[in-house]
Amino acid sequence: MPIMTPSEVSLPPEVRPLPWPPQWPAIGEALQAVWSDRSWGRYDGPYCQRLVERLQHLHDLPWIYLCASGTCAVELALRGVGVQAGDEVVLAGYDYPGNFRAIEAVGARPVLVDVQPGRWTIDLRQLEQVLGNSRIGAVVVSHLHGELLPGQEMSDLCQRFGVPWIEDACQAPGAWIGGRRAGTWADAGVLSFGGSKLLTAGRGGAVLTRHQAVWQRIKIFAERGNAAFPLSELQAAVLLPQLDRLDEQNRTRCRQALLWKTTLETELGWQVARWADGTCPSFYKLGVQPGAMPADEFEHWLVSARRWGFPWGAGFRGFARRTTRRCRQAFALVHSQAAADRTILIDHTHLAASPAAVINFLRQSMKNSTVIDS
Ligand SMILES: *Cc1c(COP(=O)(O)O)cnc(C)c1O
Repeated sequence: MPIMTPSEVSLPPEVRPLPWPPQWPAIGEALQAVWSDRSWGRYDGPYCQRLVERLQHLHDLPWIYLCASGTCAVELALRGVGVQAGDEVVLAGYDYPGNFRAIEAVGARPVLVDVQPGRWTIDLRQLEQVLGNSRIGAVVVSHLHGELLPGQEMSDLCQRFGVPWIEDACQAPGAWIGGRRAGTWADAGVLSFGGSKLLTAGRGGAVLTRHQAVWQRIKIFAERGNAAFPLSELQAAVLLPQLDRLDEQNRTRCRQALLWKTTLETELGWQVARWADGTCPSFYKLGVQPGAMPADEFEHWLVSARRWGFPWGAGFRGFARRTTRRCRQAFALVHSQAAADRTILIDHTHLAASPAAVINFLRQSMKNSTVIDS
């Protein structure tokens, strides 16, 4: 029996998050199979091979490189598209911190552009200006917090300037954008199999590409007699049963995310991630900003939720305050800073709960607790 925390015991079922990682019998069977056939102790075996085939099929792409994390996948992707030391690489002023570091790791320099107001996705007009005004080695963009980048527009834009781009789909595995999966629009796509991610092996990642040359460059860099950033057979084995259910799980999360969005917008006036009708994001985390709610009240909701052990957190810190020694800010990063200051991320494990019940529960708890701390 797993040990339950006090909050798990006392929380009403309709506000409880799902336990994570999942304990589906199929995952247990995969572990058993990997033990039985001794693949768990092999360098190369059938499970990584099968995972490559499944990812090829899912994304309809020929080249998949499995690796140790999403973070290293971004770095490998940068090398794969040919970024060199001294190049400039465009990144949004609000993004996963490891992406900034990955650009630095290849000796390139981040060039920052803002995100759209009240959102977490890159401003395409600013991106266009930067691409028009400077020599850029690559663009790195992420699908974040339930919002999806427009794949076709991004492709057209980068192609027009002849700049390769990298699509970070760590938060959106299997999501559909304009009839294609997230991660397949760019020159290289990136997935994470980290411990909190929707497809999890505790650790792990992958680069997806349609260019053999990109895959080849990654392979040459990463293989030094042996793979330097490997994914193991054990990891591949537990991912396979999760891939079987990815679409079904994404559909369920999508329905629930819509319910949360409607409830949070009408009950609290919060500004929730936006997605177009007919697109199906996959919700790793659902992003919200306060909308008309005062910042301190918004913060109070986060503090209260966390006190009950709800899987709510703050957003990324963003790059607006990074020194010019480390990057070039092509524009004032006003909206990136706003997003960094005022984002709450509701984890996918909470989407199965009833948003109305969660809000009522937190309202009650906030009313009953006089503010003693802070
Ligand atoms: C989690 C995440 C990563 C990195 O993945 P790891 O496997 O944890 O290294 C990269 N980009 C985004 C947007 C992420 O959410």
